[in-house]
Amino acid sequence: MVVSRAEGRTVRRKQAMQEHGTPLLTKPVHCRVCTILIGSGYEESRPIPLTNGRGFVCRQCYESIRRQSARRAAEHHEQDLSVR
Ligand SMILES: [Zn+2]
Repeated sequence: MVVSRAEGRTVRRKQAMQEHGTPLLTKPVHCRVCTILIGSGYEESRPIPLTNGRGFVCRQCYESIRRQSARRAAEHHEQDLSVR
């Protein structure tokens, strides 16, 4: 049986190639609340679109907004609305 040991040579840093010249479909966007950049390669990679089309927010801000609106709804209606 022949055991090939050439595998070690082909292991290279593939990450270096990806930083360069791969155009991404999604441009980085700013979070509307805390203004951090959201996009591929950034701290936040998934922008969450605001429901009213005003832009995008990061996940943390989205959850905070969701909490606020839930509280506001509860104050106005005094009902326990289920938040999706
Ligand atoms: Zn944010």
